Amino acid sequence: MDNHLFSVGMTKTDAAVQTLSDINPDVVLESYSLNITTVKGFEVFMESLKRRFSQKSGQKSGVDLVLSCVDNYEARMVVNQACNELGQTWMESGVSEDAVSGHIQLLVPGETACFACAPPLVVASGVDERTLKREGVCAASLPTTMGVVAGLLVQNALKYLLKFGYVSPYLGYNSLKDFFPTMEMRPNPQCSNNACIERQKEYLQTKPARDAAAKAKLEAESSKTEGPLHMDNEWNISVVDDSEMDTLNSCGVSGALPEGLIHELPTAEKYHESLVTEEAKTVEDDLEELQRQLDALNAS
Ligand SMILES: [Zn+2]
Repeated sequence: MDNHLFSVGMTKTDAAVQTLSDINPDVVLESYSLNITTVKGFEVFMESLKRRFSQKSGQKSGVDLVLSCVDNYEARMVVNQACNELGQTWMESGVSEDAVSGHIQLLVPGETACFACAPPLVVASGVDERTLKREGVCAASLPTTMGVVAGLLVQNALKYLLKFGYVSPYLGYNSLKDFFPTMEMRPNPQCSNNACIERQKEYLQTKPARDAAAKAKLEAESSKTEGPLHMDNEWNISVVDDSEMDTLNSCGVSGALPEGLIHELPTAEKYHESLVTEEAKTVEDDLEELQRQLDALNAS
């Protein structure tokens, strides 16, 4: 029996706990229903993140990853503040007010742009979210857009936590064009968030140690490849070189990519350029078609 039929009147958090524990009763779930933009709410939120601190020495936060699925600017800024203070990696997600586009973003304090460095909506569309949320205006809602963005968020979270594939630093979704812009955002040295500036300093200070560790790992790996990697390969798993992947299309067949597949990662700038030229082209096409129709009319 579908439990969501009985979630009317429940808080969103309790309904989520009920559904999730039905799916997997072995997972321990905690639900909080509070406004994190209040002083008290922020304290409870911070405590919930720090709770298992003692189990992981050297880490300020006790959780592996925070997923933000809030629907307003203030709440995002609060999640951003908490994660910057704790050095907590998090993923942000959102759907635009017209419900036809959305984004997901990975935020690693000090290493990537924080939400205050450059809010994704400003970056992707030139529209400031603060001016988007208008009092008394009901935002459009399209469950399909939300479903796609939620799916992308969970996929990225799985890749991050289970360490496979490419974890997208930023992935946009424009449902009208089925366009997925992606980009990387460096932190802003002039960010208005003090905790972000602190994390940026720490990141730069630890860079030499990180580079040395990466170099050592690379050297260890290259010396390993001289001998057989694993003698028993029960599942016949083989690693495909990235350069080989470039010549494979979606069916895994070597050769040119099918028409319409974009190989180069598009940037927001290119995306807007393409929109402009496409619009201009459509007008041109329409004019040509109109002229043809006129000519045909005159000829008859
Ligand atoms: Zn920042």
